[in-house]
Amino acid sequence: METKDVILGLRTKSGMSQDELAEKVFVTRQAVSRWENGETVPNTETLKLLSNLFNVSINTLLGAPRKLVCQCCGMPLEDELIGRNSDGTLNEDYCKWCYADGTYTYSDMDDLINVCVPHMAKEGFTEEQARAYMKQLLPKLDYWKRYEELSDGGQFEEFKRKLVKEINDLHIEGMPRVEKLNALVGSYVNLAYRLPSGTEVRFLDDKTTYLGTQLE
Ligand SMILES: [Zn+2]
Repeated sequence: METKDVILGLRTKSGMSQDELAEKVFVTRQAVSRWENGETVPNTETLKLLSNLFNVSINTLLGAPRKLVCQCCGMPLEDELIGRNSDGTLNEDYCKWCYADGTYTYSDMDDLINVCVPHMAKEGFTEEQARAYMKQLLPKLDYWKRYEELSDGGQFEEFKRKLVKEINDLHIEGMPRVEKLNALVGSYVNLAYRLPSGTEVRFLDDKTTYLGTQLE
């Protein structure tokens, strides 16, 4: 799909007139009309505003010329899987498990491999195949190549270690020891519970990334 069709589609789906969209991204109605006729394409700053407004990647706005892949774990990226910067904008280089609210969640390649392998095993790989595949793939991805430059010097790992210690120090009866915490995306862990009255409730926020783990 071309940019003109993408913008027209997003605008009509959201029920906005050309005037309303123009006002939201600080351009004239004529500019919007020219995008939708395919005469011009929004500039970089306006693409960012449109990306925020419609919650889609700039790649999608441009008609998806690139196949986005998370530069930390190698997962192909659909718009709803893209990680967010601390200001809420999308970071098209990462998935939301590897990069959340401006923080890189993995600093150890083996940790990441241990998280991914069981998922890949469900998709028909043997564990050895999955492990071997990840071991050759990850070092080629941008995050691991630029790790020294991008990483926070272990601050996030230190924060998680402190949190794990605090949880275990509570000595909650019957609860197994917590060994580690992983990034959990809100929309995946925000499960609905049914109250005796029949009302469905959710306790978490779909848009937040949580730290958590599963205890057997
Ligand atoms: Zn990722």
